[in-house]
Amino acid sequence: STEVARPSHLKSKPVVVIVIGMAGSGKTTLMQRMNAYLHQTRGRGYVINLDPAVSSLPFGANIDIRDTVDYKNVMKEYKLGPNGGILTALNLFSTKFDEVMNLVERRASELDYVLVDTPGQIEIFTWSASGAIVTEAFASTFPTVIAYVVDTPRSTSPVTFMSNMLYACGILYKARLPLILAFNKADVARHDFALEWMEDFEAFQASVESDASYTSNLSRSLALVLDEFYQNLSSVGVSAVTGLGMEDLFQAVEKGAEDYMSNY
Ligand code: GDP
Ligand code: MG
Repeated sequence: STEVARPSHLKSKPVVVIVIGMAGSGKTTLMQRMNAYLHQTRGRGYVINLDPAVSSLPFGANIDIRDTVDYKNVMKEYKLGPNGGILTALNLFSTKFDEVMNLVERRASELDYVLVDTPGQIEIFTWSASGAIVTEAFASTFPTVIAYVVDTPRSTSPVTFMSNMLYACGILYKARLPLILAFNKADVARHDFALEWMEDFEAFQASVESDASYTSNLSRSLALVLDEFYQNLSSVGVSAVTGLGMEDLFQAVEKGAEDYMSNY
């Protein structure tokens, strides 16, 4: 076999889960639920907040970007709006990310999972330097996976679903890490429709074309791209509010971590 030599500093624990998704998809609530589930069942978690603009957190963060950068000051100092303030705050924070890694590494032997909350500006992970710095810092040290949180009730229209999946696909393409689609808010809407679309290319294509009330080569090509994308991920239905699907989610995380270790 042609096994790639693994850098000696890649550890097998803890597993890092970077939680990414649109604003309002439920990342922060899911973080809290995952953390609570960990404490009850699976082991020790470490929680990192990278959202400088969150007003209050439902969990006690071990590391919180808000202790280091005040994004409102960043807005003033750099004459930015809220969006630019958040992106710049994260860029500033990422220049000191080795300090974060030192803290995590010092605790690593006692930890099973590191959960990382992020802002809804997901261009951080497709475009900004900070997203690449953060993902590479984790991924070069620990098995690292991405949990992409989908607002399921808001993704029931085929065109909205497709654009959300294209975002997730962009993140996968850039980060090259195992990706889990966490279809959140299962207490409001189940993700069966999504599974059907993901498994049956023609059903999805037909839905897109009827929803958009036009047939275009573009939507056909995009659906084809996504068909390939779906081969490379796992999907689980979860509810951050009721706790539904937490064991499935962590099993998907473990599978992603195994994939990561064997493909690194
Ligand atoms: P974030 O912006 O992605 O961090 O999302 P939040 O965690 O702040 O959640 C946004 C809104 O969605 C809040 O009102 C949450 O209470 C709600 N929410 C999050 N998860 C769920 C869920 O599983 N079910 C329901 N019904 N609401 C949820
Ligand atoms: Mg949040």
